[in-house]
Amino acid sequence: MAKIFCVANQKGGVGKTTTTVNLAAGLAKIGQRVLMIDLDPQGNATMGSGVDKRTLELTIYDVLLENASIAEARVKSDKLIAGGCSYDILGANRDLAGAEVELVDVERREKRIKTAIAAVDSEYDFVLIDCPPSLSMLTLNGLCCANGVIVPMQCEYFALEGLTDLVNTIKQVHANLNPDLQIIGLLRVMFDPRITLQQQVSEQLKNHFGNKVFNTVIPRNVRLAEAPSYGLPGVVFDPSARGSQAFVEFASEMVERIKTM
Ligand code: ATP
Ligand code: MG
Repeated sequence: MAKIFCVANQKGGVGKTTTTVNLAAGLAKIGQRVLMIDLDPQGNATMGSGVDKRTLELTIYDVLLENASIAEARVKSDKLIAGGCSYDILGANRDLAGAEVELVDVERREKRIKTAIAAVDSEYDFVLIDCPPSLSMLTLNGLCCANGVIVPMQCEYFALEGLTDLVNTIKQVHANLNPDLQIIGLLRVMFDPRITLQQQVSEQLKNHFGNKVFNTVIPRNVRLAEAPSYGLPGVVFDPSARGSQAFVEFASEMVERIKTM
């Protein structure tokens, strides 16, 4: 059975997409079978996996509206195959922005992705879902089908404030819609150990959340930021970069983590 994880944080630009595509590539690199679902109308995870969102015929939008199955809508990326770290991609583009409105009146709307994944479940070890920067219907859809949430965060003062809203949403979804859901962990990203405040916030996180903070820390690394303009995760673009190595380490940590789930 595939384990399903949402990469979520309603704050924008905290590293959700970078985490999703690099974790997907890192897991592929260590032999795991991965489906990456882009649940953000921005389509950054799609483009960052080497798939042109503008030319996609079927996307997560069609799956949400039950016009297509995942088996029909998923694609592979030639660039990822060439890089030796391939995962399947269920892409997104601007069409998805309309889904929010179109799904208002339909039944079981928050369960649609779950049902769709069930049909391909045996083909994967991991399903990773890149969520948009909001606690919208789309994010709710993701949370309703997930076993767990991975929360990337920068070690800054306001990061802790935003966490309260996210934790409350996850608790509500857990209580009302998806009893499987739990926070798997907080991932410290764009970390710069030279900045004292980041060290302090990192310590606060460990004190407050204990083993819910992943051991792996993702450093601030320019190669990770450059990679998307080449349509590649950093792990594929420059495997030797410190940031890429950290994501492969994180992939190993996730493989260990799911053994205890
Ligand atoms: P959004 O909320 O818009 O979906 P996001 O949370 O998905 O954003 P990303 O797009 O992953 O965030 O990252 C935001 C920016 O920070 C991007 O330009 C990305 O390349 C850069 N970035 C992410 N992680 C790192 C890192 N570890 N080191 C350097 N730059 C990074
Ligand atoms: Mg994003």
